Amino acid sequence: MNHDPIIIGGGAAGLMCAIEAGKRGRRVLLLEHANRVGKKILMSGGGRCNFTNLHTQPDNYLSANPHFCKSALARYTQWDFIAMVERHGIAWHEKELGQLFCDESSKQIVKMLLDECAAAGVRIETDCTIEQVRRDADGFALNTTHGSQRCAALVVATGGLSIPKMGASGYGYELARQFGHRVLPTRAALVPLTLSGKHLDDYADLSGVALPVVASVDGQSFGGACLLTHRGLSGPAILQISSYWNPGDALRLDLLPERDVLAFLRGQQVERPAAELKTLLSEVLPKRLAQRLCELALGNRPMRQHRPAELEQIAALLQAWPIVASGTEGYRTAEVTLGGVDTAELSSTTMESRKLPGLYFVGEVVDVTGHLGGFNFQWAWASGHAAGQVA
Ligand SMILES: Cc1cc2nc3c(=O)[nH]c(=O)nc-3n(C[C@H](O)[C@H](O)[C@H](O)COP(=O)(O)OP(=O)(O)OC[C@H]3O[C@@H](n4cnc5c(N)ncnc54)[C@H](O)[C@@H]3O)c2cc1C
Repeated sequence: MNHDPIIIGGGAAGLMCAIEAGKRGRRVLLLEHANRVGKKILMSGGGRCNFTNLHTQPDNYLSANPHFCKSALARYTQWDFIAMVERHGIAWHEKELGQLFCDESSKQIVKMLLDECAAAGVRIETDCTIEQVRRDADGFALNTTHGSQRCAALVVATGGLSIPKMGASGYGYELARQFGHRVLPTRAALVPLTLSGKHLDDYADLSGVALPVVASVDGQSFGGACLLTHRGLSGPAILQISSYWNPGDALRLDLLPERDVLAFLRGQQVERPAAELKTLLSEVLPKRLAQRLCELALGNRPMRQHRPAELEQIAALLQAWPIVASGTEGYRTAEVTLGGVDTAELSSTTMESRKLPGLYFVGEVVDVTGHLGGFNFQWAWASGHAAGQVA
């Protein structure tokens, strides 16, 4: 049977692409190997789907070519997606930092996309495994567990490698390589960092302690909560910085980002000379953490005993506390995959392959990865929309 286009992958990008192509009167077939579409949408944002971010801009994305995402993001903006959400009567709210969530449930976003697909005449087949894709003179020929299919345009929307349990596979990268595309090295991102050996022993019993920090690696910094876990560190600031962290990189945490720490210590030395450092720090940091910092590096003498240079050292440490991470929790818990299909070989306006006309890559399978906070879905919507306009 002939379809134009066939879309492989029923996630955010694939569904958006299907809707747009269907609206143009195309016969769209979407093939999904899981038992339902939109599984990551359902589990996203703690079940409320952080579906976009009010402040979306190209700076919020990592890619070997930081300019690549600009065109698609400009032609399908956060406001376009919000308009769709509102047309479907879905109530939403801004949680913080421009992050938009459903008031009720991420199920509403999947239902909205499925309703749009139905209105656009999109055919969706789930539980369908693609066994082979060939290119011939007339287009693409697919062998699937649901039979053979042909199409002139093939859209690869298979996402990244994170959360294999939810249907993630490396199939999109395989297809890219089959058709001569370069795939840039992939790694887990927006992911908790792990500690090991002595470094884990130093903090593991503080599991559950949370505090606001600014996390920095190699000139990049992100503010937000940091949560100590029994394996290492998590929380928004850590997830964000994980996208920039490579094994061996020095990670530093400003543990008192809202304070002028040196002025605080100097002031306390004058006002409370007999107070121990641990006591003072327990008033501005979680108590168990303050105690541990003193045990590990700061000491615990009464304030009057500290020379000015020592106060400077203590302040510097509190504002750039070194953490030796050993790795990440990997794709099992990562929200996204860095790297992927090289954008150098794709059109930034249509997502079409420059090597093989009719072949498209959209969403997370492409080497474009957003920060935490709704940016990844916005890329999926925008890139899916771009391909759906032409495929
Ligand atoms: C726990 C979690 C929470 C998240 N929360 C947010 C959030 O709140 N906001 C945000 O912006 N981003 C969030 N993300 C990231 C976001 O989900 C992804 O960036 C986005 O879903 C990517 O869209 P996509 O369509 O490219 O890929 P996906 O949504 O992953 O869809 C790919 C689809 O392709 C299918 N597929 C894979 N291989 C094959 C194959 N061989 N044959 C057929 N089908 C195949 C998969 O089953 C899947 O349905 C979260 C991610 C996770 C894991």
